[in-house]
Amino acid sequence: MSTEMAQDAERRRNWKGSLYFGRFVLFHLICLAAFWTGVTWEAIAAFFVLYAVRMFGITGGYHRYFSHRTYKMGRVMQFVMAWIAQSSIQKGVLWWASHHRHHHTHSDDPDDVHSPKHHGFWYAHLGWIFDPDWADTDDKRVKDLSRYPELVWLDRWHILPPTVLGVATYLVGAWIGGGFLTAEAWSFFVVGFMCSTVALFHSTFTINSLSHVIGDQRYETDDESRNHWLLALITFGEGWHNNHHHYQASANQGFYWWEYDITYYILKALSWVGLVHDLRNPPEHVIEDEPHPAVAAREDDDEEAADESDESAPAPTAGTTERFGETVQSIQLSAARAQEEASKQVCNIKLAAATRYDELSDRASQGYTEVSEAASKKVDDIKESARHAQEEAGAKVDRIVESLQQPDPEPATD
Ligand SMILES: [Zn+2]
Ligand SMILES: [Zn+2]
Repeated sequence: MSTEMAQDAERRRNWKGSLYFGRFVLFHLICLAAFWTGVTWEAIAAFFVLYAVRMFGITGGYHRYFSHRTYKMGRVMQFVMAWIAQSSIQKGVLWWASHHRHHHTHSDDPDDVHSPKHHGFWYAHLGWIFDPDWADTDDKRVKDLSRYPELVWLDRWHILPPTVLGVATYLVGAWIGGGFLTAEAWSFFVVGFMCSTVALFHSTFTINSLSHVIGDQRYETDDESRNHWLLALITFGEGWHNNHHHYQASANQGFYWWEYDITYYILKALSWVGLVHDLRNPPEHVIEDEPHPAVAAREDDDEEAADESDESAPAPTAGTTERFGETVQSIQLSAARAQEEASKQVCNIKLAAATRYDELSDRASQGYTEVSEAASKKVDDIKESARHAQEEAGAKVDRIVESLQQPDPEPATD
C-alpha cells in the first residue's frame, strides 16, 4: 500500500470513529428530551418491546449465530436476524462478528480488542468502539458470512435498519397521540426508540467490561470471564459469560436450570415452529468440567499401564489441555473412520478389478478355445483336402504309368 493510500485509510478510520462517537453522544442527549416530552405509558411499553426484540437480535443474532454459529437457520431468517440486530445501532453484522471473534482469540491478553484487565474499564466498555484502530472489519475473520451478498450489503448500509425503525416508531407514536407534533408522538420516539437504544448500548457493553470484572469464575478459562446473575438478566443470558468462554459452541449459556437464559428460551421456541434448528448444547462432561469420556478412558488405561510399570502417571490438567485432548481425540476418531472408509473403497476397487480380470480371462480362454477349435478344424480340412489331392495325384500317376506300360498296337498286314 502506498503512503498516500495508507493516509487515506487512516483518515477514513479517524472519520468513522469520530462520527460514531458524535452519534453516540447525540443519542444520550436526545434521551434528555424526555423531560420536555413527558413519559407516556405507551412510550414505556415501546421502550420494553424495542429493548427486548433488539436485545434478542444482538444476543441470538450477532453473538450466538453470526459470531459463534451455535445453531442454524435459513437464508431469509438469517437476513431478518441481521436486520433486527443492526437496528440496535451497533454497527454492521460483519463488523460485530469479526471483532467478537477477535475477542475470543485474544481473551484478556494485551491484543484483546476490549479487555478491562489491559486497557482499563471505560476503554473496554465503550472506548474501543470509537478507536480508529477497530473501525474496519477484519475480512479474514468473517469469510463464512461475507459469502452472502445480502449480508455484505446490509453491513455496508448498517444505518438503514435503525433509520427505518426510528421513523416507524415516530409514526406509530403520532398515530397513537393523534398528530405528528403531539407530546405523545415525541415521547414515543424519545423514550421508546432513543432511550431503549441507549439502554441497549450499555447493557451490551457490560459483557465486554463488567463480565470480565465482577461475578464468579466457575471454570478456569485462561481469561477473566465471569458469571453474574444481574448481567445475565439484563442481557438475556449473556451474563453467564464464564460459561460462554468455557464452551463457546453452545446455543445456551445458562448451563444449569437456575441459570436463566432468555435468549435460549426464545431460540427454543423459534425451533419449535421451525424458524431455527440444530441448536447446540454443551455435553455433560463440559458442564461438569470433566475430560471427554473417551479421553478419561484412555487416561485410565494410561494410569493402569503406569501403575504396572511402577511409574507415576502425569497429573491430568484441566481447561485448555483437556479441550485440546478432546480435539485430538475427535481428530483421531475421524481419521480412523476415514481410514476405514478408504480401505473399504480400496477393497471394492480390488474386488471390481478381480471380477473384471476373471471375466476377461474367461472370455480370453473361451476365445482361444473357439479359435483353436476353428483352427484345428481348418487344419483337418486342409489335411483332408491334401489327402484328396494326394489320392487324385496318385490315381493320375497310376493311369499315366499304366498307359505307358501298354504295348504299341501292331502294324496292320495284308
Ligand atoms: Zn462470544
Ligand atoms: Zn468475553
